[in-house]
Amino acid sequence: MRALLAGVLLVVCLLGAAEPPRRATQVRYAMGTLYTVEAEGPAVESAIAAAFAEVRRLDALWSTYQPDSELSRVNRDAAKRWVPVSAETAAMLTRALGYARDTDGAFDPTVGPLVSAWGFKHQDYRVPTAASLKEAKQRVGFEKIQLDVTRGVRFTQVGVSLDLGAIAKGYAVDRALSVLKQHGMSAGRVDAGGNQGVFGRPETGVFWPFAVKHPRADDEVLGVITLTEGGISTSGDAERGFWQDGRRYGHILDPRTGRPVEGRLSVTVTAPSAEAADALSTALYVLGPTRGLSYLARRHPQARALFVEAGDTPSSFRLQAQEGLPWHPAVAGPSTYDQY
Ligand code: AMP
Ligand code: MG
Repeated sequence: MRALLAGVLLVVCLLGAAEPPRRATQVRYAMGTLYTVEAEGPAVESAIAAAFAEVRRLDALWSTYQPDSELSRVNRDAAKRWVPVSAETAAMLTRALGYARDTDGAFDPTVGPLVSAWGFKHQDYRVPTAASLKEAKQRVGFEKIQLDVTRGVRFTQVGVSLDLGAIAKGYAVDRALSVLKQHGMSAGRVDAGGNQGVFGRPETGVFWPFAVKHPRADDEVLGVITLTEGGISTSGDAERGFWQDGRRYGHILDPRTGRPVEGRLSVTVTAPSAEAADALSTALYVLGPTRGLSYLARRHPQARALFVEAGDTPSSFRLQAQEGLPWHPAVAGPSTYDQY
């Protein structure tokens, strides 16, 4: 009897060991950032591989660093003639231009010449001369883009370019999540350098927790936002920027002034999709709390925002969490931080 029991136990153990994992996390580099894909379900590894293949497909379509991408072709030729684009690119451009119109150009996918003028494109940071800023500003403005269902894209002026850097990662997250769902995953999370999305209930808890980092100290957490579905994205000057003469110049530019936005350290937005969260966090970083929250109320009532605003002294900041945001501060009490 004992021998039989031992035998049964051994078989159970061997079966258990042979069972493939139901949960996996993988990290890959794409679209100029680190992607983390986490999923739960049967054949989890092939599901994650398919999600990464989808991200690579979108990178090949819209990267401005790949000269043969569809967007690079548009940027090369659209000042000379209409450039036909795929339905997916046309749809993305329609949405990006929609955010630009709705925010009066605070979000603007033509901001590329300014991004280059400040050295953010190739990480050769500098404060541009007044002349080069003026020249770059003349090439920025979403109204310089024409989009036509049959003919494609046309620029009204030479030197204009399109850059989807503030919205495409969010879309890639949504696409990767839907590939995970198609592969039968019960839960998943995709993180593309601060642009994230989730679905399902993770084995590890009821919610997916998102730590909001201290914008000046990477190893400190200000609090946690919990989500069960949808997207969350942070835009900030910590991601990319430089210090000069005691000032922080971040990579998010106000297209009206042509200069990096100041007075704000980060904005985190939750929204029904990762694409919306991505575009909105960039837009609200430019708009600020007053105009940003009224824009959300009008156009994106399901979205919620957390602003980290510069404080009254050079080394302080304060948090402003919108009502309804599932926000759990790390420290109870006033949301003003005196030092960073
Ligand atoms: P994100 O990290 O999603 O907020 O996107 C920031 C990136 O979008 C920058 O690195 C620039 O390439 C680009 N960008 C900067 N300012 C703007 C803006 N006002 N509207 C749209 N894209 C912008
Ligand atoms: Mg964004």
